[in-house]
Amino acid sequence: MSLKSEAEPVQSPADFERLLQVAMSDDGGGEADPSAEQVPLLLLVDDKPELLQSLSELVRAHGYRVVEALGGRAAIDALGKQSFDVVLLDLIMPELSGHDVLEFAARKGINAKFVVVSGDTSFAGARDALTRGAFDFVKKPYEAAELLAALEKALRHRELEQRNVHMENRLLMSEQLHRFIVNSSPDLVYILDRNGCFSFLNDRIETLLGYRKEELVGRHYSELVHEEDLDAARNLFNERRTGGRAAQNTELRLRSRRARSTERPFQSQFVWMDLTAQGVYSDHTERTRANFRGTYGTARDISERKEAEQVINFQAYHDLLTHLPNRALLRDRLSLAIAQAARNKRRLAVMFLDLDRFKIVNDTLGHTMGDRLLKAVSNRLQGCLRKGDTLSRFGGDEFTLLLPEVRTRDDVVVIAEKILDKLAAPFVIDGHELFVGASIGVAMYPEAGDSVESLIQSADIAMYHVKGRGKNGYQFFAEEMNSKFSTRLSLERELRNALTSGELRVFYQPQVSLDDGHIVGVEALVRWQHPRLGLIAPADFLSVAEETGLITQVDEWVQARAFQDIGEWRRVGLGNVRLSVNISAQQLEQDGFLERFFTAFVGSGMAPEQLKIEITENAIMKDIEVIVPKLREMRRRGLRIAIDDFGTGYSSLSYLQQFPISTLKIDRSFVGDIRADRSDASIINAIVAMAKGLKLDLIAEGVETRTQLNYLKSQGCKEVQGFIFSRAIPAPELMGLLRNNPFAGVLRGEPAVVASAI
Ligand code: C2E
Ligand code: MG
Ligand code: MG
Repeated sequence: MSLKSEAEPVQSPADFERLLQVAMSDDGGGEADPSAEQVPLLLLVDDKPELLQSLSELVRAHGYRVVEALGGRAAIDALGKQSFDVVLLDLIMPELSGHDVLEFAARKGINAKFVVVSGDTSFAGARDALTRGAFDFVKKPYEAAELLAALEKALRHRELEQRNVHMENRLLMSEQLHRFIVNSSPDLVYILDRNGCFSFLNDRIETLLGYRKEELVGRHYSELVHEEDLDAARNLFNERRTGGRAAQNTELRLRSRRARSTERPFQSQFVWMDLTAQGVYSDHTERTRANFRGTYGTARDISERKEAEQVINFQAYHDLLTHLPNRALLRDRLSLAIAQAARNKRRLAVMFLDLDRFKIVNDTLGHTMGDRLLKAVSNRLQGCLRKGDTLSRFGGDEFTLLLPEVRTRDDVVVIAEKILDKLAAPFVIDGHELFVGASIGVAMYPEAGDSVESLIQSADIAMYHVKGRGKNGYQFFAEEMNSKFSTRLSLERELRNALTSGELRVFYQPQVSLDDGHIVGVEALVRWQHPRLGLIAPADFLSVAEETGLITQVDEWVQARAFQDIGEWRRVGLGNVRLSVNISAQQLEQDGFLERFFTAFVGSGMAPEQLKIEITENAIMKDIEVIVPKLREMRRRGLRIAIDDFGTGYSSLSYLQQFPISTLKIDRSFVGDIRADRSDASIINAIVAMAKGLKLDLIAEGVETRTQLNYLKSQGCKEVQGFIFSRAIPAPELMGLLRNNPFAGVLRGEPAVVASAI
């Protein structure tokens, strides 16, 4: 076989396989192992047949195999055909001499041993033969013993030479094999000298970290190690590692020069490696500092595993949709923040934030839109944060915000208002304009709780109060919120009881014509006369009523009661007033709703146009297919339908046109925005224009000030409802107002008569 020289390194797997086969076979890859027992083959050359004959007999007698060549030509022929161990060569021959044969053998690289057997005893002849490659010289006539001794010497020599070549070959192959293994290793293999400088690196360094080997040889390992991992590296290399400890693995980040993919966010210019190190000593029995020579070891790329770990870690502590911290991480950070606040005698705030109209978007436009909206909301919220604040997604449309650095409530108010302000602008997603407000509950440490659980719960309770009070706003947790009902469950139980034991009341709030101050209608509003807690406003119990489905019973009861009251007022000549009742989506959705409702209504003896149903946009949107046909039927039978809290919902103008409605009721939040110092009442202007365009009646609720009253009047709003005239009051008080109609004076500028109650 032909061996590869150093200049021709092993490169391909095929090369490697061949080397491996050679290394694992016993015969050195075809090079005959000279130690194998074999009878030597000799070539005898002489031009004298009788001399050839006697020489042949002599060596045969000693057990050698023999080929005879009569003359130089025959010798060259034989040498060309096969290889011999020793050639016994006559020098002086006609035609081709022994010298010619030697020359031929040298030229052809024939490696048999040549022993010249010649009668030419001249010094020049012998020298000539030896310089042409003859091994030994035996003078003719020879003595048998002398000839045999020369022959044996030549054979022994040849054998030694062959052994040598064979061993060299094997060494060379072994060296190449190991070099190949080291260089094609998936791991980095390195050697450090006693000072910690690289003295060897395998080829892997180039693909792994992007350095050429030559650049690093002589450089200190610390130049490659991430500064945060230097201690670990020092530990790994400086501790004189041997034996069991040597195998220990250490995970480090090494500086890489290779450009890393931008798609993998966790990858930096550092690569995570798992390193092993083994100390090398000049004397292995004495592993002392003086004996220490350096370190060798391997380094494996574990960046993929590390990245996977980071992703898993991220997933465990983050919400995958918004990438915000999740509940678990929030709890973690909150408990840390509480500990810090306690130590420094500082305060902190937890905000619980629930989106107001998210469910409608999700239900009507689908989850994909819902998800996109959540992402957009989370982006806007993040814009409101300061360094150190933690915004987390608690689940669904709930977010929590931890503000560890607040001193006063005012600090929190600024942030809450900023958030509400940011969320007020519509989100435009896929061509839809989506409006979401937020209800924010705030709990301050330590007054609203001193543990993770109690703070989150307090913020949650405060948030529910905002929801109950018309949403889109914020409230701080107050002890009373807790004291009314210890749990939502107890509220539910007591509300069920209230329905059967007659604790509910209906109060009425007048609706006043701006033309002449006449009470043109009344809105029936439920109250709960709680035996222990006193009079409770609907904000405090309607959300639970809705969640539990009790709302239908509440609605039916309120309506029945109001119809009854109207009947009584009629008997005293006050029964012409228009009645507005609020109706929930759940009541409308019920099977058999229309029959039941109209049975009750007909029993009241009212004219159809005397009754107005108030329903919010959101309630309609909850179940358009079921609710709109029912509203249409009510409208067909002559009832009026008002969209309550108009402007806060998510319906578009095109939807509105399909609804069988007669009145828009401007939400009190817009009315509240009308202030002397603020001329920006563009939403009201828009609603007024819309009502005109769609030929709908208009009423504004929540009017408290004369400025608001005048502004609404100037815009062409015909009816209003609000504290400026009266709060919602019990039926007997209302009868007094109906009788006296005292509001004309208010319109003329006289002081407002504000009736009592809530
Ligand atoms: P709503 O239907 O929009 O009723 C108007 C609310 O605004 C009433 O609150 C009323 O007291 C309040 N309000 C009226 N004028 C003013 C004002 O000038 N300033 C302020 N700040 N508030 C004013 P209330 O009675 O607490 O009712 C809250 C909500 O509860 C109602 O809002 C309605 O959505 C719901 N609700 C009340 N009674 C019933 C009912 O019998 N059935 C159903 N389904 N919902 C009801
Ligand atoms: Mg209403
Ligand atoms: Mg309203």
